[in-house]
Amino acid sequence: MSSVKLPSNWFSNIEIFKNEYMICFHTLSNLRADLTRYIEKQLFISNDSNIILLLNGKQISPLEIDDTFKEIDTLNNFQILLDKVNITKCCQGAVIANQNANIRASFGAQYVKSSGQWRHSNCLTIIKESDNIVCSWCKRLTFSIQRKCTKLKKEENTRVYFSPNKKKIVQTLQKAKAIIKKRHFRASRKIIQLENQLNKVKNEMSAFGDKELNAIFERLNISNEQSELIKEIFAAAKVKNPKNRRYSENWMMLCAISNKVSGEFKSPCSYKFLLEQKILPLPCVNTLRNHLLAIKVRCV
Ligand SMILES: [Zn+2]
Repeated sequence: MSSVKLPSNWFSNIEIFKNEYMICFHTLSNLRADLTRYIEKQLFISNDSNIILLLNGKQISPLEIDDTFKEIDTLNNFQILLDKVNITKCCQGAVIANQNANIRASFGAQYVKSSGQWRHSNCLTIIKESDNIVCSWCKRLTFSIQRKCTKLKKEENTRVYFSPNKKKIVQTLQKAKAIIKKRHFRASRKIIQLENQLNKVKNEMSAFGDKELNAIFERLNISNEQSELIKEIFAAAKVKNPKNRRYSENWMMLCAISNKVSGEFKSPCSYKFLLEQKILPLPCVNTLRNHLLAIKVRCV
């Protein structure tokens, strides 16, 4: 091993691997933006003089580096191979993996993590062109990632890739979402239609004067108690804010009696229920209490 002339920034040692001695040579990548580096090139000589070459963690045939390579039978042959591996340019990959974790799902099988870098699954590993540090596939992936990051910053929709199994689940969910969206749209439209109808009826009711109402009650022979209720409903329709409602004296007394009766029958919830459901224009219990107090004071 000491006879091998190591190129600069190359390291060597002897390891025991699967109970056999192995001579190992390696060099590191250039420093990345986050000051980290990874093992870029590795050459191993096994006990039986076999040569294993790894570039970016991927096993490569020495023939790809040196097409005249046959086998290491002399030290000189190995030195030639080592020097050729040293000047071989390796693809630096697209981007640092841990700095772009949020875009992982968007590319799926298109890219793989290797030595802490995202690389295209078709990464060429060896770069033949002298002025490039990234292969054409990883360059394409870099553009895609940059475009994706820009879209994420602008909060635009991005295309997400799924495995076939997950794709089926996603499609089912997307169909269910589309159906719910349609139902929601129809329900919203119906609510608007009903609100418009209700406002129309309210307007028609507010246009009704007491005289017209009394005439109808007389013509239809409606009892006083029922007339009071209908008058209150018409009066409530004329007021936009329920807090601004004014109740007639008769109606207040009727409500006070109802509240009292429901209390005596140990079911105060019935008045409360009618009040909360807004079935009738009922005054709240506090208003009733204040009204009764005012009557008592006037009586004193
Ligand atoms: Zn590449």
